Amino acid sequence: MPVLTHQQLRTLLEHHLVRVNTPQEIARQVADNLVEASLKGHDSHGVTLLPRYISAILAGDLQPAAQLRLIRDAGPLLSFHGGRGFGQVLGRQAMSAGIERARQSGVALVSLADSHHLGRIGAWAEQVAAAGLVSIHFANVAAPSAVLPFEGRHPRLGTNPFCVGVPVSGRAPVILDFATSAIAGNKARIAWNEGRAIPPGCAVDAQGNPTTDPRWLMEEPRGALLAFGGHKGAGLSLICSLLGAALTGGETESHQIPPRQGIINNMLSIIFDPLRLGAGENYAREVIAQLDWMQHDQQGHDVLLPGEPEARAWQQRLENGIYVDEVSWKQFEALEL
Ligand code: NAD
Repeated sequence: MPVLTHQQLRTLLEHHLVRVNTPQEIARQVADNLVEASLKGHDSHGVTLLPRYISAILAGDLQPAAQLRLIRDAGPLLSFHGGRGFGQVLGRQAMSAGIERARQSGVALVSLADSHHLGRIGAWAEQVAAAGLVSIHFANVAAPSAVLPFEGRHPRLGTNPFCVGVPVSGRAPVILDFATSAIAGNKARIAWNEGRAIPPGCAVDAQGNPTTDPRWLMEEPRGALLAFGGHKGAGLSLICSLLGAALTGGETESHQIPPRQGIINNMLSIIFDPLRLGAGENYAREVIAQLDWMQHDQQGHDVLLPGEPEARAWQQRLENGIYVDEVSWKQFEALEL
């Protein structure tokens, strides 16, 4: 069972990315982002994506040197096209531009179309929160639809992630970041690699029967994922498609996109300065009060806040290393051939 340190994984990823013509600095940023996702406990969006990214480059679905292209700059509005470059780089650049604009105007609306995989969307909310700003992100996945609409029988939605980041003075930010499917598609991949079942209530087989076997999400004939929370999650997924893709100039799931190696994301981000709305001290006080109220009860039973599981995993994995599942490790070894 391979367990590696984060430094070993950074070096390994960078090495393989450079071998397939990724510029060194871009390879470094991609490796950092994937290792951070693994450190934060999201193996689904971490280092195990490397073989898929390399296949995407070799298939021409991912342009390893592509840079962010500014399409429109109008006051608080910034529109970017990603040219199917690494989302790890484009996402960071787009958020930096949004942060700068939100500092000037109080708010920025940033669209990013046609990016290769943006990975863990929480990384973008964390970047914005570190600048003291709130952000809301709607993203779609322009890939063959994998998720059923509520009470639907055929997949029509992506696993479309939604994310909100709220900075908290003197504390870690609140980062709510999830796929609108009951589990992220890549979590089914990790379960499949590890020979585990997925939780009940997340997927159906090709006949529409409930299943916990991830094979139905990995091989033909395919089943589908369910949205989280019934009609609510399916509705939010649709909004991610409408705002994340239609509004940004990206592809919605309606294109009936054929299977491909690349994973294309489109994303709309709303970034704003919470101190510019005038709530001032009330805002700071109420945020802390609500977080404390939610987290602790009087019997000493504490619950986690969004963002805390990732912070705990980070601490634990920084010390003990990152486990890479056997299937992914064999794929890594095959990259050397
Ligand atoms: P998840 O189900 O693990 O939920 C994660 C969120 O819930 C986090 O905000 C976390 O802090 C919070 N959380 C988890 N356990 C908690 C607890 N016990 N108490 C309180 N809060 C808790 O996430 P997921 O749906 O599996 O998504 C995983 C990742 O996949 C996310 O980072 C998401 O952005 C990413 N994703 C990316 C894409 C893409 O195409 N780029 C698509 C889907 C998902």
